[in-house]
Amino acid sequence: MTQDYIVKALAFDGDIRAYAAVTTHAVQEGQTRHYTWPTASAALGRTMTATVMMGAMLKGDQKLTVTVDGQGPIGRIVADANAKGDVRAYVTNPQTHFPLNDQGKLDVKRAVGTNGTLTVVKDVGMKDYFSGSSPIVSGELGEDFTYYYATSEQVPSSVGLGVLVNPDNSIKAAGGFIIQVMPNAKEETIEKVEQAITHMTPVSQLIDQGLSPEELLTEILGKEHVKFLETVPVKFECNCSHEKFLNAIKGLGEAEIQSMIDEDHGAEAECHFCRTKYHYSEAELKGLIEELHAK
Ligand SMILES: [Zn+2]
Repeated sequence: MTQDYIVKALAFDGDIRAYAAVTTHAVQEGQTRHYTWPTASAALGRTMTATVMMGAMLKGDQKLTVTVDGQGPIGRIVADANAKGDVRAYVTNPQTHFPLNDQGKLDVKRAVGTNGTLTVVKDVGMKDYFSGSSPIVSGELGEDFTYYYATSEQVPSSVGLGVLVNPDNSIKAAGGFIIQVMPNAKEETIEKVEQAITHMTPVSQLIDQGLSPEELLTEILGKEHVKFLETVPVKFECNCSHEKFLNAIKGLGEAEIQSMIDEDHGAEAECHFCRTKYHYSEAELKGLIEELHAK
């Protein structure tokens, strides 16, 4: 299987900005770490795919967090990404699954719910944050990200996301696209692109055919219109560490740490995003208390 990556492109003489991604391995990593059931895998994978493409729009050390909270049985889906194609994500209830919907597809809408918000927080550096949110309008997620762009960022966009799950719960294929209209785009370009998107083969079918990110965009926009700029490798990557959780424990304060020593003779922390477990010995906890006293 080919590697995961994002391609960035311009189309129609710069009137259109486009991103496409294949994320099969990253979503598989998410499925394995969180042991998601198929409907949850699709919801998690679609969110990861949108988030990693949004991350690719950032620069340098900037990063972003997407939270999908549709008040459905799956709970919250949280995904982080940066400009380097690193993405990590978790979902409150990973063992969520429902029968296929009446189109024979994984019922992501039922799992996500339709009564909540999609929130995006961008860490743009120098302690500066941009935050935007929009109501969940569909629960299928592609349309929800489309709506987010239209209402919160005022960038007319089309977001398509697809995740296919094998009978053994592993990920068969995952990917998607974000197509955006640039300011001052020509009216005829906008019409052409709208027509193309209306008549395109469903994204899940294109993903299932194993199209590369480049092929995905040429399939939708037409080969003669697309100019590819660069690619970004995608991977499930978490930046948690023993040290970071130790710092978090230190932040709980002396009384809390002392009770961990007295009651548990140590501590354990688990990363929400990647499920790595970290163990802290009694000696390490005593060291923290000494550090707090030294201040
Ligand atoms: Zn982690």
